[in-house]
Amino acid sequence: MWPNWSPTRWPSKPKLTETSHGRLSKEDRHLMVAKTTNGELRIGVFVCDCGLNIAGAVDCAAVAEYAETLADVICAVRNKYTCADPGQNEIKNAIRQHRLNRVVVASCTPRQHEPTFRQCVREAGLNPYLMEMANLREHCSWVHSGDWDGATQKAKDLIASAVARARFLQPQEELTVPVTKRALVIGGGVAGIEAAIELGDAGHQVVLVEKEASIGGIMAQLDKTYPTMDCSI
Ligand code: SF4
Repeated sequence: MWPNWSPTRWPSKPKLTETSHGRLSKEDRHLMVAKTTNGELRIGVFVCDCGLNIAGAVDCAAVAEYAETLADVICAVRNKYTCADPGQNEIKNAIRQHRLNRVVVASCTPRQHEPTFRQCVREAGLNPYLMEMANLREHCSWVHSGDWDGATQKAKDLIASAVARARFLQPQEELTVPVTKRALVIGGGVAGIEAAIELGDAGHQVVLVEKEASIGGIMAQLDKTYPTMDCSI
């Protein structure tokens, strides 16, 4: 059964509570750090239809409506195609209009569009690492396409989880580190030779080290190779 945990357990106005020892609980300490480090949390949620890919199996209107009730969520917007220019513009406009400092995009796998949305929020002036994704397509609509109510509930839970994580996101800076464009490949067998050629083609100077008198490894000792039965060298 999809989790017993209900996202509505998160209090609408999070309060800091004391443990029996008079200290803040771990959860509340984390919440306090998130709030005090970054000031007020202003989260925007963007729910993507992906045409019928998501909207054909999930009640996206109800999901967006639900997202707006979550604590710290300032606005929830439903897009037809969030990765397309109009969808990205809606994100940028909402960031500026509502002074959002966290963004949750509920759409597809981060493997496909995480760089797209990081760049999108960057162009609106937000640190790209203040963006979180919920995968409503691969993790929900595609695998629960015959269960409208169940898929809709799961989509809500995925968004609640992404919003909960977004509260703790911190701005990140990417480092640029100078590197020497020179590589050492140890072993002159087929794999080592291939690696050396690839690195050389990529513009790196390569040093290939082989302990034997010649390169080629075991391959060089074979008379013929399957399936063409060509000479191995
Ligand atoms: S963001 Fe992902 S889910 Fe949304 S339209 Fe683009 S590909 Fe589809």
